[in-house]
Amino acid sequence: MTTPVGNEFQSPMYHEAAGQFDRVARLMGLDDNVADRLRVPQKSTMVSFPFRRDTYSEVETLFGYRVQHLTTMGPTKGGIRYAADVDLGEVAALAMLMTWKCAIVGVPFGGAKGGVRVDPMGLSRAELQRVTRRFTMEIINVIGPETDIPAPDLGTNEQVMAWLMDTYSQHVGHSVPAVVTGKPPALGGSVARREATGRGLMFLLPQAAGIRQMNPNELTIAIHGFGNVGRYAAIAGHQMGLRIAAVSDISGALYDPEGLDVDAVAKWVDENRFLEGFPDADFIDGDKIFVLPVDVLVPAAIQNVIRADNAGDIQAKIVIEGANGPTTIEGDDILRERGILVIPDILANAGGVTVSYFEWVQDVQKYFWTENEVVARLREIMTRAFSDVHNVALNEDVDLRTAALIKGIRKVADAKLVRGIFP
Ligand code: GLU
Repeated sequence: MTTPVGNEFQSPMYHEAAGQFDRVARLMGLDDNVADRLRVPQKSTMVSFPFRRDTYSEVETLFGYRVQHLTTMGPTKGGIRYAADVDLGEVAALAMLMTWKCAIVGVPFGGAKGGVRVDPMGLSRAELQRVTRRFTMEIINVIGPETDIPAPDLGTNEQVMAWLMDTYSQHVGHSVPAVVTGKPPALGGSVARREATGRGLMFLLPQAAGIRQMNPNELTIAIHGFGNVGRYAAIAGHQMGLRIAAVSDISGALYDPEGLDVDAVAKWVDENRFLEGFPDADFIDGDKIFVLPVDVLVPAAIQNVIRADNAGDIQAKIVIEGANGPTTIEGDDILRERGILVIPDILANAGGVTVSYFEWVQDVQKYFWTENEVVARLREIMTRAFSDVHNVALNEDVDLRTAALIKGIRKVADAKLVRGIFP
């Protein structure tokens, strides 16, 4: 580990991701030259572009990023996020996590991530479309079905992916569904992609409970976030007969120790946008979700929510990370010391990119699968990945996050070595 990283990637999140990588690389005895190549992204694109709001004529400058961490394994893959505080370091960190994630579930992609620094809550539909089409044009030369395939992430959705696909297709002169995943099924999106991340993490619960000798059917669950991950995790858990005791969003949290009627909560949010006001549960402060007396905690919203200041108060025995990077290094150390089982993000939320891979395969082959086929293959890949990671944890006597990183890093390091260096 000799080459210092340049300042360009410095951000708390990059520090976390690179810190985790360095710790595990040392533990594995990874060759320094390989470690240096993997610690920084291979290609980073940073753009600025003009943006006009609906209501006034001044022009704002927006900043956008697309970072491709590793091009060794095939095309790169990863979401695009819209958030008020996105920066190059955050996107670089998330691109690195995507590399390990893809390697762990065995999909033939390297990691990428993109983002635009804008608050999507403050955008009209027309503004969201303008931002998306212009950002797509700004990165059009670095994306493509064989080079880099975006997907939804924080603050983006199926509609945003549809506009991206349309902009790319208009540019090249024919429809290219495989340039993006997480699109509406009408454009070549996969059935069951929307639910895939939430469902995938719930598929892991029986195995996680088994490690702790707990009966999965008796577990109570709290979910931080009710967006594309949290909502479908709650629905999947509810369908599995599990007790979803609490869910939260930016308005606060709903809590019922006997279990929420998740379908009614989802309907409420569709009609009222936020959880606040839902009549059939206690409404509590959003941050309380982390310290409720439940068995399983699922952080499924944003990064850095389990930290040194609250990790000591978590009562859950199992944490399943639906969000990317929800636990800081200090928070993780505390959970480990306290014997809390953490299913790390790069394993737990890999259901999203797994079904994205299925979507890409279907688009490339122009042959579409049924929902049952998608879900059965997702379950198979997730449960196998969990067993593989658990075996590494047992063999190396490490926690699941370290084991997942070992598995991911080993796979890409081996691939890098056999490809060799050009020229
Ligand atoms: N944004 C999701 C993630 O962080 C999905 C990426 C994808 O489907 O390419 O895993």
